[in-house]
Amino acid sequence: MACYVFGPVPSRRLGRSLGLDLVPFKTCSYDCIYCQLARTTCKTLLRKEWVPLEDILAQLKEKLATNPNYITLSGSGEPSLYSRIDELIAGIKNLTDIPVAVLTNGSLLSLGEVRSALLRADLVAPSLDAGDAGTFARVNRPAEGITFEQMVAGLITFRKEYKGQYWLEVFLLAGVNDAPEQLRKIAQIARQINPDRIQLNTVSRPAVEEYAVGVPEEQMRRFAEIFGAGAEVIADYRPADELGECAGRPREILEMLSRRPCTAEDIAQGLGLNLLEVRKHLQYLSVQGLVQTQTHNDQLYYLAINHGPFARKTKQRDPR
Ligand code: SF4
Repeated sequence: MACYVFGPVPSRRLGRSLGLDLVPFKTCSYDCIYCQLARTTCKTLLRKEWVPLEDILAQLKEKLATNPNYITLSGSGEPSLYSRIDELIAGIKNLTDIPVAVLTNGSLLSLGEVRSALLRADLVAPSLDAGDAGTFARVNRPAEGITFEQMVAGLITFRKEYKGQYWLEVFLLAGVNDAPEQLRKIAQIARQINPDRIQLNTVSRPAVEEYAVGVPEEQMRRFAEIFGAGAEVIADYRPADELGECAGRPREILEMLSRRPCTAEDIAQGLGLNLLEVRKHLQYLSVQGLVQTQTHNDQLYYLAINHGPFARKTKQRDPR
């Protein structure tokens, strides 16, 4: 059985967060230029039971003793694409009092069925990264069928219906959505949404597009003032080598594999990553035809295809 529960992992916003992965790797309604996982391989609006509900709950039950601060529906894609998310939240509530958080891109909050499905969550944290349709298309690259106006209307409507904590994340990128007029537009929409918190974030780890560049800390603090007194900067400005997760990029795994064949466990240990996360990246790299496997002494090894000159190849073909 695949693994759907990961962590607890330390989260700046949520403390120790036990994550539930509800969709296959990079199944998402957006393909954000700043995504830290990989380019979206399944861009969709299809809502279905992507993974068996009973399996998620069974695995979660075994991890409850880790006593996390939150059980977080997030993972490697958009959790509201999971059609049984309401039953999942109800199932979690039957198991434990640990609060449930949903980290969503918010694109499906325009659908009544998604809004009602999330009503029992304790915390819902959607995103808003643009103040107009053009910037929305450039930053979030949504699936066909999602309009900026609908997305914003969904964020506003949900606030009126939802009684839990509602935290709006705004992801800012240097030279893309940080011009004064754009910031004013985003701040104006944020006021209409009226969340409990506005949290400004920016790129602090390698993103899928090289031109998705972070905004310096001082500037972010000045930008926060445009959003009003309650806005906070949640970007992680620690140096990259202090960020365990930053090593989890497929490119870094490829670089490691271009030096020598490794097992998934070797990679997790070597890069200080969660094993589940490593397996997902390896799955993605296999699909892209960039790694292959070989069994040796009953151990499964991963090799970069054409390794040796491979480092040069990855520069030409960014695998993230
Ligand atoms: S919504 Fe999240 S998972 Fe989807 S592409 Fe954007 S950052 Fe990545």
